[in-house]
Amino acid sequence: MKWLSIRLRLTLWYFAIFLLAELIFGAGMWLILRENLFDIADIALEGQAADLQRFLEARKDIPARQLGAEISEDYKIERSEDYLQISDDSGNLIYRSRFFEEHPLSSLNLHELDRPVYENRRLGHQPFRLIGEPMDVNGHIYIVRIGHPLHEEIETLDDFRRYLLWFAPLLLLGASGVGYWLSGRALAPVDALARTARTISGHNLSSRLEQLHSGDELQRLSDTLNEMLGRIESAFLRITEFTADASHELRTPIALIHIEAELALRKSRDEAEYREALRHILVEADRTTRLIEELLTLARADSGSEALKFHSLDLLIPLRDSASKWSQLASKQNLQFIDHLDAQHLPVMGDEDALRRVIDILLDNALKYTPTPGKVTLSAKQATGFVTVSVEDTGIGIASQDQVKIFERFYRVDKARSRELGGAGLGLAIAQWIVHLHKGSITVNSQPGKGSVFQLHLPAENSQELPKLAGTP
Ligand code: ADP
Repeated sequence: MKWLSIRLRLTLWYFAIFLLAELIFGAGMWLILRENLFDIADIALEGQAADLQRFLEARKDIPARQLGAEISEDYKIERSEDYLQISDDSGNLIYRSRFFEEHPLSSLNLHELDRPVYENRRLGHQPFRLIGEPMDVNGHIYIVRIGHPLHEEIETLDDFRRYLLWFAPLLLLGASGVGYWLSGRALAPVDALARTARTISGHNLSSRLEQLHSGDELQRLSDTLNEMLGRIESAFLRITEFTADASHELRTPIALIHIEAELALRKSRDEAEYREALRHILVEADRTTRLIEELLTLARADSGSEALKFHSLDLLIPLRDSASKWSQLASKQNLQFIDHLDAQHLPVMGDEDALRRVIDILLDNALKYTPTPGKVTLSAKQATGFVTVSVEDTGIGIASQDQVKIFERFYRVDKARSRELGGAGLGLAIAQWIVHLHKGSITVNSQPGKGSVFQLHLPAENSQELPKLAGTP
């Protein structure tokens, strides 16, 4: 059954259901017709019995032995009664029509006969409906048997059966044909969807399946497939953009290394000049290494292979480490560095290295984008259910239209400036990915020319209810 198409399977179901319905209907109708025909025959028999009763009552004074002759003469002539037998209460025959002479009936016992008995019998190759009943005529009990030939009824039943056998297969064929056509019509949109789906590849991911407006399951199927295509398309575009941006970002430092080396080799130089050229090459090589490392992190994040190792930790430890590292760098840049890390513990469930990386990204940015004289403040506190870390600077700030975009990959407000400072626009994208994996959020509040505040919200460990944080996916 499985190798058959849905259309053929549906047609077979139509066929089977119609066949069953026809069998039940045909047999039922035949039985009802048969019962009705027998009822009509019974009414005719009862009419004849009543007629006979009246005839016998009119001759109540005639002795039983003359009654047979009387019936032969009068009753038979008047009513041409061919199938009649009358006996008295002791079973002695009073009258028997010729047919019953030739095809005698079995005798009926008066004691068992308290009401009329009907039976179907074949007599002389003919079907008969017979009534046997006790008849009380002025105190004389007669046992009367009257027959009704059933050939007309049987003929009607045979005709009905014949018609049924002729029409049923025709109806069955017709119904199966209609079923085949209907299922074909119902499944036609599926074929159309499959045909369109087959033409969609990586080159035309923007194509969509035909929009159905049938409001049924097929419309839901095509809508769902179209939504899925939309998601695949945007994922595909993201990857294509990412690859293009990554190649572009990688080309710049490599081109710089190439130019630097070429210029250094163009003519012979003194040691100091070579050293300077090599130092430039080293800076660009470092930048390239960092960029490749960031690209790898994001690629692994996309493929889901960059698994973090979660365990309970005190966030104060990485925060204090970072504070001591970045305060030295800040003082080298003539920036003021303040930390407010006075909490006893900041328990979170997380990956320590990944969270260190987030703090480093935020502090690195704060130092990069804060000109002297400026101030960078690192603070952390625990509130109900979550731990908040803030990195505040008095730097250049970010315009509100850029604030949503800075978490996108490769987005930099001032591309040239960021590149000069060693940024490829990937730091905040990585930070956001890590924070989201911790079921936390990262927000920015900034005013151009005044400074920025980046805030991390992480669910505190053992917090009974984890609040839904703004910006959490
Ligand atoms: P980058 O490595 O270029 O700094 P990020 O993803 O870390 O990339 O940041 C994206 C952009 O957001 C930066 O290029 C910069 O324009 C802006 N930005 C980030 N942090 C700050 C900040 N503290 N002050 C001003 N601008 C910032």
